[in-house]
Amino acid sequence: MSGRSPTSDDLVSELRRKIRPDLVVTTPEILENFRADRSGLRSDSAPIVVVFAESSSDVVEVMMSATAHRVPVVVRGTGTGVAGASFASAGELVLSLERMNRILEINEEEAYAIVEPGVINGDLNDVLRDRGFWFAPDPASRAISSIGGNIATNAGGLMCAKYGVTREAVLGLTVVLADGSMIETGRRTMKGVTGLDLTALVTGSEGTLGVIVSACVRIRRAVPGGVSTVNAYFPSARDAANACLAVSSAGLTPMVMEIMDDQCLAAVHAYLELDSPPSGSASLLLQFDGESSTANAASANDILRRHGGRPETATDEAHAEELLRIRRSVHPAMARLGTTLIEDVCVPRTRLADMFDRISEIQRQRGIVIPTVAHAGDGNLHPNFISETDHIPEEIWDAAQELFSAALEFGGTLTGEHGVGTLKKRWLRQELGDTQVELQRRIKAAFDPLNILNPGKVF
Ligand SMILES: Cc1cc2nc3c(=O)[nH]c(=O)nc-3n(C[C@H](O)[C@H](O)[C@H](O)COP(=O)(O)OP(=O)(O)OC[C@H]3O[C@@H](n4cnc5c(N)ncnc54)[C@H](O)[C@@H]3O)c2cc1C
Repeated sequence: MSGRSPTSDDLVSELRRKIRPDLVVTTPEILENFRADRSGLRSDSAPIVVVFAESSSDVVEVMMSATAHRVPVVVRGTGTGVAGASFASAGELVLSLERMNRILEINEEEAYAIVEPGVINGDLNDVLRDRGFWFAPDPASRAISSIGGNIATNAGGLMCAKYGVTREAVLGLTVVLADGSMIETGRRTMKGVTGLDLTALVTGSEGTLGVIVSACVRIRRAVPGGVSTVNAYFPSARDAANACLAVSSAGLTPMVMEIMDDQCLAAVHAYLELDSPPSGSASLLLQFDGESSTANAASANDILRRHGGRPETATDEAHAEELLRIRRSVHPAMARLGTTLIEDVCVPRTRLADMFDRISEIQRQRGIVIPTVAHAGDGNLHPNFISETDHIPEEIWDAAQELFSAALEFGGTLTGEHGVGTLKKRWLRQELGDTQVELQRRIKAAFDPLNILNPGKVF
């Protein structure tokens, strides 16, 4: 235990008196796990302690002690965040919610579920499926990320162009504030406009405003009818993007609309040890649900052909699942190429093709490899900046800066779904401007006057 300051020793002893001692962990090997998330960033040294809260009263005790000792708190779900918002450094306390993982209520009549924050997104869906319901937010990390983390990052996913991002599925939250007081935000009713919408404010706040200890989330009845899946190859990502626009403009609303550029597609095929895709091709994956899915897929196929695509409709469920597996394997395939900065800009859908062109230009001019995948239905691109070094070098940051400027020039945003964390912090003013950044800081100070919740992240 040597090397800890008297303050941190006092804090740890106090916590072990107040909550079950085995939940308060200072084992160096365990603390090491909390120095990184999935952003590729790593702190210089380990935090003081990690507390594995099992109840909201544990969280209250932790926050009261942290406030009393002025110790910063990094709230942690399952640590799959890619914005550098959930890793901790020297002098910090990690508050892990992963053991608060109970589904507290499923109300089918009112179509909501009440869950603790550590419930894994995919686990909730497994339980709901048996009852004919589902939870729409579907980050590609749904098998490994927590609903608390999904809410705190306002996560998106493959289906949000049709079914919305996480915010649209959150009705109300129970939140423990920095001083240990607890508030209930939002509602369980279909409508409700009492006061400011603190549910929306806390959603996407990346652990900077409070600790979500339970959430009332909207669940949906399973959509009747089947699912039709279409895969199409295009000569370029620009062509695929134009085809997507034509599909949307025809009034068709696929639940999945994903583009992979040629480099990304080739890397995933190599990773999965599949036959190589047609040389130089980009791919577009479409999935329609509901009673009209077959007819809609047929209409989309005509449009894709007119835009230079070669579509093929999945013959059965196994074929469809294989096509989705290719899309869902982008992250590990990129990781195999080298150190990856996963970017997340979002542009108006009408500028998606221009953005693909700009990314190609940045690659050519800077000699950097940037395989790109896009949630084309909502204009959200994930360019993966690959480098051969074990860290993200400055020339990659310079290229990323060029990408952000292009996104803003096209009327877009720096982050569509991953958040600001530490990765995007230095560009916040470029998008929001001084006045808004100052206002956001004042809001943060109103929730957390001592700045102990995730300090140094986002703002
Ligand atoms: C393979 C892979 C695929 C991914 N795909 C997607 C995708 O498709 N879409 C997408 O949006 N993201 C995606 N992500 C990123 C990540 O999974 C999401 O951001 C996810 O929502 C984070 O959840 P988590 O439980 O891991 O949160 P963590 O990483 O633990 O935390 C993320 C942030 O939320 C805060 N936080 C966590 N829990 C709470 C809580 N209870 N109260 C308050 N604050 C809290 C943390 O302080 C931190 O700021 C992907 C990541 C990986 C590794």
